[in-house]
Order: sequence, then structure tokens, then C-alpha cells
Amino acid sequence: MDETMRMPKSLYGMKPNELLGALGLAKSYQGKQVHKWLIRGVASFDEMTDLPKDLRERLGAAMPSLTSSRIIDEQTDSSGATKLAIGLHDGAVVECVILTDKENRKTACLSSQVGCAMGCTFCRTGTMGLVRNLQAFEIIEQFVHIRRIAPETTHIVFMGMGEPMANFSEVIHAITYLHDPNGYDIGLRKITISTCGLVPGILQLAELNLPVRLAVSLVTADDRLRTTIMPVNKAYPLGDLKKALIRYQHMVGKRFTLEYVMLHDQNTDGKAAKQLADFIRGLDVVVNLIPWNPAAELPWETPGRKEIDAFIRELDLLGVPYTRRFSRGRGVNGACGQLAVKQSVGDVNG
Ligand code: SAH
Ligand code: SF4
Repeated sequence: MDETMRMPKSLYGMKPNELLGALGLAKSYQGKQVHKWLIRGVASFDEMTDLPKDLRERLGAAMPSLTSSRIIDEQTDSSGATKLAIGLHDGAVVECVILTDKENRKTACLSSQVGCAMGCTFCRTGTMGLVRNLQAFEIIEQFVHIRRIAPETTHIVFMGMGEPMANFSEVIHAITYLHDPNGYDIGLRKITISTCGLVPGILQLAELNLPVRLAVSLVTADDRLRTTIMPVNKAYPLGDLKKALIRYQHMVGKRFTLEYVMLHDQNTDGKAAKQLADFIRGLDVVVNLIPWNPAAELPWETPGRKEIDAFIRELDLLGVPYTRRFSRGRGVNGACGQLAVKQSVGDVNG
């Protein structure tokens, strides 16, 4: 290794042969060795015990941490959701969440951006605006931190901060890395991309024909209301969104999810149910009903039990397929749409 060589910010996102070059390794098999240790989640070169000691020492001195980010806060609530605040190399902070379901399956909820430019009025992240896109290694590192805490994590959803379709290539790079059978080997069907309805992204995903799962945050099938609460609907109104979804379905041929955040007195009456039934005609979807997670600074309310039950009865009558999602993570503000960070930390790398 050349002493003066510039070390990368992170070793995550690189294939074994790219590691060879980045670290100036002499032996070609050492790229694979380092890669294997990275996937195991070791904290430093020192733990890579099949590398020669002097090499470990030199690499360790040049790069004390294998990740560009670090956990700066960890909170667990009564539902078993653990929220991590991750400090990035430039001092920005993102959040990711470990969710555990009834079957004890663990899902990593990852962020794709710091903040979000989409400005949905019911979402805390939306109130932050966009700070910046995450690079692929910063997306992967969230999973690295999560795996160190919960090694049995098998599923990934892009439902943390940010709009994944607005950071498409970095998200796809991260997914490709996380899917790699020689790495984390996460099945594509265990990965969900959630979008507010950015049509070009949906079409790009259709073209890639990557069998990840797609979730679309519909929230309402009323064009006027949607434009009011989700500015993305101005650029891509429901008609365009539906066309893109039909195209996606045609190319990928898989059932997808519509996320329906229920807002008191806004999108839960008989008319809303009818509009939803009309929208899904011709689409192979299941609607995921999510009661709005409160955020004190936002002017919405969570619908009560009765209101939700009445809405569900309407959906039953109309034959709309749905699931109900219990909002895990509320206790740590780690539930959907509750992720927002104001603090900033000092530069992680010093
Ligand atoms: N930007 C992407 C992914 C992140 S948002 C998207 O919009 O799909 C993840 C999910 O949280 C979306 O389904 C969104 O509609 C939902 N969400 C946002 N704010 C929420 C809130 N306050 N309560 C419940 N769900 C919310
Ligand atoms: Fe962004 Fe999704 Fe929140 Fe809308 S719901 S502001 S797209 S993170």
C-alpha cells in the first residue's frame, strides 16, 4: 500500500476488485477477504484476522473506521421498534428504524435522502425540505449499523426519510449491493421501494425490470385534495400516475401496494372510498391503510376507531383489497412520516 494514497470515505458499495484498487492491496484474493469481513460487519481492519498483521495495521492507521457514518442515538419503544440516528461524514443526520413484526421478522426501514423536497403536508420529513441526497454507501451503511444490532434483519423498506425515486441511481446501486449473493444476499422481493408517485422513477423501475416490491403513497384518489396535500400531484396527477402504474404492472407483472395514510375528515368518507375503488380498477394492488401518525406541528388529526371502521366497511362493499398496518415505532417517533432531524453533529471523521 502506498502511504500517501487517499482512502475512500467508506468501503461499502464496492465489489472485491474495487476494494483491491481502493486499498492498494497486493494480492487479488485480499479484495474478497476484506469484502467478506465488511459484510460480517466488523468495526475495524484489526478484526480482519486473515490479513497479514502489518497490512491490517497500515490500513487501520489510514482508515480507523470502515464506515463514513456512525450511530449517534438509539431508542427503542414498546412495540420493539428501534430508531437509530446516524451521523454522516459532513455532520448531517438521517434516521433509520428496525421494525419487528408479529412473526418476529425484522425489517430495516432506510432513508434515501437527508430531508425530502416533496413537501407532503402530512409528513414530518416533508417539513424539513431537502438537505441532500445520500450516496449509495450512506444508504448501505444504515443497513450495516442495523445488522450489527439486529443480525437477523432480512427485509428492507425505503420508507425512512426522503423520496427514493428522486435519488434513483444511488438507491439502485445500494439495492444491487445489498442483493449481491456474495454479500448480504437480500432477495429483491424482500426489498420495497416506496414513492410518493414520481412517474419518471416508476417508469425507470419498470424498464429495469428489477423485481423489487413497489409501494406508492397514494393517500387520496381525489385529484384536488391530492394536489393540496401532496405537491407532487401537480406535476404528476392521478391520471398520469395510473398510466405509469399500468405500464409498471405490464412490465413487471407483480402486485404492488398503495399506501393510504388516513387523515381525519379528509380522505375517509364514502366518496373517498368510491374514488379509491375507481382508481384501482385495472390495477393489481392491495391498499395499505395507515392511520396518520401524529406530529404536533402539523395541522392534521388521526381518525378515530369509528371513522376508520366506517371507511373499511365502505371498502368492503366496494371490494377494495386492503391491509391494515399497525403503526410500530410511534413511541420513538420512528413511525412513517415521523422522521425529521434538526440536530447536526460534528464531522464524523474528525
Ligand atoms: N418518500 C417515500 C418514502 C418515505 S415516506 C414515500 O412518500 O412513499 C414512507 C411512508 O410514510 C409513505 O407511505 C408516506 O405516505 C407515509 N407517511 C408520511 N407521513 C406519515 C404520517 N405522518 N403518518 C403515517 N404515514 C406517513
Ligand atoms: Fe417525502 Fe415521502 Fe414524506 Fe412525501 S411522504 S414528504 S415524499 S418522505
